[in-house]
Amino acid sequence: MTKVEIIVPVHNEEKNISLLVQEIEHCFTAEEQEYKICFVDDGSTDQSLEVLKRLTSENKKLSYISFSRNFGKDAALKAGIDKSDADVVITMDADLQHPPELIKQMLQLWKEGNQVVYAYREEANQQAGFIHRMSSAIFYKLMNKLSDLKLEQGIADYRLIDKSVVDIIRPMQENDIFLRGLVKWVGFQQIGIPYTPDERLEGKSAYSKKKLINLALQGITSFSTRPLYAAAYLGFTFSALSLLYIPYVFISFLMGHPHRGWASLIVTVVFFGGLQLTILGVMGLYLGKLFMQSKQRPLYIIKEEA
Ligand code: UDP
Ligand code: MG
Repeated sequence: MTKVEIIVPVHNEEKNISLLVQEIEHCFTAEEQEYKICFVDDGSTDQSLEVLKRLTSENKKLSYISFSRNFGKDAALKAGIDKSDADVVITMDADLQHPPELIKQMLQLWKEGNQVVYAYREEANQQAGFIHRMSSAIFYKLMNKLSDLKLEQGIADYRLIDKSVVDIIRPMQENDIFLRGLVKWVGFQQIGIPYTPDERLEGKSAYSKKKLINLALQGITSFSTRPLYAAAYLGFTFSALSLLYIPYVFISFLMGHPHRGWASLIVTVVFFGGLQLTILGVMGLYLGKLFMQSKQRPLYIIKEEA
């Protein structure tokens, strides 16, 4: 019998949990699979933990891990992966935006020999505004250009992972882990399936614009050092160009057209000032990563589990 474990990160989802459990239950009618659901409470400030405690005491298929504070969704997923002993792991959101009906299809594709089955949003989130959709498109373009990963636009944290891949990810101790990229990076036979996200059931999204930008920067710097190369090339190009400027100034002086011009000077100073700060910032991002990683702090702290 195939053991399937569903890992659900929970951050203030008190109203969604029990409905999600029911929906998942409906997806497992086949006798050949045995399922468990592991909830990871990521520092909820509402009644989520109480709800989880009650439900797990009533239902043997459920278990929970509770963090000491909010560590982020990826940390929550990693905690679930670290604990898992199933043949197949499925990660999905608690807010029912990831349609549970897809589980059947995912398991079917797994049986056909795929080690990873991931879902991606088919039509770029309709509810999301124009700016949100544009920035998401830019992120995936940049990500694919800058790293060797090819992430589909709209790829979600809704995926099935075979035990063999789970065993590879488990020992990884990356400080700010970006699972969407990491699972893709691992390789093996992977397949994507499109889905249309449902509306969030209750509560509100925990991801603000600022958080999304940070997530994008984190994703890119986790998988690529190309921004550093770009910085070096940019610097090199501009110094080469500035060398051409010296004979130009010199010759015009000899020909009796000395250069004056405060405006052009200021523009140049401001431009290069900005460029230097940007490049320093890029270097700083990587340095910061190195710094955080060198501390070797755990990715999450478990307060209690059952
Ligand atoms: N989540 C989490 N920790 C966080 C933020 C979110 O575990 O710090 C969970 C949340 O409970 C949900 C999933 O991650 O199950 C997706 O979050 P959300 O719906 O807020 O994100 P969105 O769907 O807007 O991308
Ligand atoms: Mg959501």
